Amino acid sequence: MSKMRFFALQELVNRVPLEVNPPSDKISDYYGSHVFDRKKMQEYLPRDAFKAVMDAIEKGVPINRSMADLIANGMKNWAKSLHVTHYTHWFQPLTDGTAEKHDGFIEFGDNTEVIERFSGKLLIQQEPDASSFPNGGIRNTFEARGYTAWDVSSPAFVVDSTLCIPTIFISYTGDALDYKTPLLKALAAVDKAATEVCQLFDKNITRVYPQLGWEQEYFLIDSALYTARPDLCLTGRTLMGHSSAKDQQLEDHYFGSIPARVTAFMKELEIECHKLGIPVKTRHNEVAPNQFELAPIFENVNLANDHNQLVMDLMKRIAQKHKFAVLFHEKPYSGVNGSGKHNNWSLITDTGVNLFAPGKNPKGNMLFLTFIVNVLMMVYKNQDLLRASIVSAGNSHRLGANEAPPSILSIFLGKHLAGMLDELIKQVGSARMTPEEKTTLKLGIGRIPEILLNNTDRNRTSPFAFTGNRFEFRAVGSSANCAASMIALNAAMAHQLNDFKKSVDNLMAQGIGRDEAIFRILKETIIVSEPVRFEGDGYSDKWKEEAQQRGLTNISHVPEALMKYNDAQAREVLIGEGIFNENELKSRIEVELEKFTMKLQIESRVLGDLAINHIVPTAVNYQNRLIQNVLGLKEIFTQEEYEALSKDRKELIKEISRRVSAIKTQVKEMTEARKVANHLDCHTSKAYSYEEKVRPYLDSIRNHIDHLEMEIDDEIWPLPKYRELLFSK
Ligand code: ADP
Ligand code: MG
Repeated sequence: MSKMRFFALQELVNRVPLEVNPPSDKISDYYGSHVFDRKKMQEYLPRDAFKAVMDAIEKGVPINRSMADLIANGMKNWAKSLHVTHYTHWFQPLTDGTAEKHDGFIEFGDNTEVIERFSGKLLIQQEPDASSFPNGGIRNTFEARGYTAWDVSSPAFVVDSTLCIPTIFISYTGDALDYKTPLLKALAAVDKAATEVCQLFDKNITRVYPQLGWEQEYFLIDSALYTARPDLCLTGRTLMGHSSAKDQQLEDHYFGSIPARVTAFMKELEIECHKLGIPVKTRHNEVAPNQFELAPIFENVNLANDHNQLVMDLMKRIAQKHKFAVLFHEKPYSGVNGSGKHNNWSLITDTGVNLFAPGKNPKGNMLFLTFIVNVLMMVYKNQDLLRASIVSAGNSHRLGANEAPPSILSIFLGKHLAGMLDELIKQVGSARMTPEEKTTLKLGIGRIPEILLNNTDRNRTSPFAFTGNRFEFRAVGSSANCAASMIALNAAMAHQLNDFKKSVDNLMAQGIGRDEAIFRILKETIIVSEPVRFEGDGYSDKWKEEAQQRGLTNISHVPEALMKYNDAQAREVLIGEGIFNENELKSRIEVELEKFTMKLQIESRVLGDLAINHIVPTAVNYQNRLIQNVLGLKEIFTQEEYEALSKDRKELIKEISRRVSAIKTQVKEMTEARKVANHLDCHTSKAYSYEEKVRPYLDSIRNHIDHLEMEIDDEIWPLPKYRELLFSK
């Protein structure tokens, strides 16, 4: 056994769970203790400063400089009570993850004595040298100025000894370089559009807040095994490995202490989340060995997304402490279910009405129906945009692989709600409705809550499912920043609601009554969007055929799917609703294409290296032993006996030769394909070339390696095997 593999396995024997103790028995004693929330603001800020923050959050009123100084000072004083020494502007560049640059509070005072200061200027805006964050050509390195600016809608928090201030990140020209800036714009757009539609029904509604409840899936792996797998360390997934036969005895022997360690990790994670005001509830996921899920109670989208980013970061750090590595990759192990991040999404009004939950009376139900029907149309018209928002190199291994929704966007409503819509189509005729017809219709609509109460349908194969009071966007990848999908979804919804409102206004301008105008447009919308409704098995091949007949798109080619960010409908939504300007949209597409290219480039290099420097020498080594064996047989047996005894070994020698040659040839060809792709100077053709010309080699080389793993003596195999990586809980 290679030293690396041997020591990794050896390490596991001595692992012990860490002891984890919550600060108090009652969660409420420490929940939010590390967040500068309203309660603490009231305590630490002068009355005017507190009001300034509230006005900024609720009404978007800018904070002036002297107020900012007061706020910064209060924030610093609170932070010092938690022994904080540094502060950072915390932001979300277009890479996966968050960025921060820590500065100390330390400054020289007037008499050059050392003091601790945090001014309003430093709170509100910073200028990190951020030339190395992806920006798709918006900012050249010689003009490496990017600004971070405080997002007042997300509270400051303390991690370790650092005060973290959530910020947006923009270039010196004002173009967004992050996820948060366009997300805030998309949320504002849907707030405005949804409020206008709500006002057709209820004038008391003045704000609509989009909600997000994410479900984060992930794998844990012991850090020693992780380190012994260069492919995992460098690419986040195993590029080789024959599927495990599940040797339970061996697992017990090596991994007996695992479950307690996982529990300790989860316990500590939960405590840290609660201190940061992240309302998580942990639970195990039984789908794959060592795969788990963490889900909080839903929150406003911007905050929920900050919390998801923060949790991913916490998980990595806490895992390290417990001698685990956490894998967020969508498909760390081939043949084993991958990880996603369901985005549960709803719209809730400032009057407390969930627009995706049936109301208590006919009026409330019309509001509900209106929003449901607009979601149908939104998904129907924006299949390509929604897909573009969730595709990535990692997620492409998962989508459509019989474990996750396919690359076809469809909506599952459940048969009762679907039946209700079909009923509505029948009841709204083309002629003016009589008062009786309207009453019947409204009575029918009034029955929705009972109908949905009986609705026990749960379709697990739909990429976009109605689950009683929310929609669940299930195609999002586990490593993704939810902002990408939330930008697309909320912007598209804003656009759709604006279209709907215009159509209703048009009819009303022609003298048609409000209710009838709404019924007519709803009917039209239900009919047009019908192809996107699908209640059957989303994983089946039959659905792929049917979807094609219905004219739905199905794109598994990653760069092609990404390029849909730039087609007419996506532009109408993203540029039309003011989420991106031309420059920003162009750069966003470039960044995504580049990320894809870079990931494949790294995977291809790592695989080439492992194949040539680890696998081929091991195979040749074993082959030599076989050759020695055959020669030995020849020496001690008669020719006849020798022929019979050596046959299988000779076959194996040939087989190994064949595979070694194939690996060497293909690695060479793959390197050539990479060179060709790298010389293309346009991001798009480079990404296409990686998808079409480089990627296929990853699978075919792996295939040969995985066969060799089965054939070669386990003792000399250099890398930890799947059965070792996928130990039982
Ligand atoms: P599942 O049955 O899909 O595994 P859970 O019951 O654990 O899901 O809920 C998944 C997520 O949906 C949780 O984060 C939960 O808070 C969230 N959720 C519940 N209601 C809503 C809602 N109205 N809007 C957004 N998210 C919601
Ligand atoms: Mg779910």
